[in-house]
Amino acid sequence: MTFSKYIYSWFTGLKSLVTGLKVTIREFFRPKVTERYPENRATLVMFDRFRGELIMPHDENNQHACTACGICMMNCPNGTIRVISKTETTEDGKTKKVLDRHEYDLGQCTFCNLCVLTCPSHAIIFSTTFENAVYTRSKLQKVLNREGSSLRPKAPAKELQSTDSPK
Ligand code: SF4
Ligand code: SF4
Repeated sequence: MTFSKYIYSWFTGLKSLVTGLKVTIREFFRPKVTERYPENRATLVMFDRFRGELIMPHDENNQHACTACGICMMNCPNGTIRVISKTETTEDGKTKKVLDRHEYDLGQCTFCNLCVLTCPSHAIIFSTTFENAVYTRSKLQKVLNREGSSLRPKAPAKELQSTDSPK
């Protein structure tokens, strides 16, 4: 190495050192922000748009809105969802497809929200839970429909009110 190259690299090193020190000194004098997490985990509420985990809401009768159509599975770009259906016979002897298992792999989800946006029944949503750390990836594989749950019957269409008819 020539002497001029040695001097050049010396000044380059000094310059990068000063650049790093500038950041350190600036942060040293900035007001401190104290994160209260995890001490406040019982009261901490995430904002509504936060996508923590895909869930399937069930009502008090253990019923959900999933018709097992599979659209969410088809629209998921990375195969995170698997909808398994089964066939049931109704009281009037007809057969119909119902949901058996709605499987979701939280470890694979990119939280793109496509499944929620394309579900025609609004059967799935994102919860705002955020503590999803586990020791094994298998614990991130979830079944969204609860044990013994069923499809919520559609509400009967409202009768047309006579006041709506043209006079
Ligand atoms: S949010 Fe995206 S990646 Fe996750 S399950 Fe839905 S469609 Fe798939
Ligand atoms: S969650 Fe929605 S899109 Fe997915 S299978 Fe159920 S009804 Fe269809």
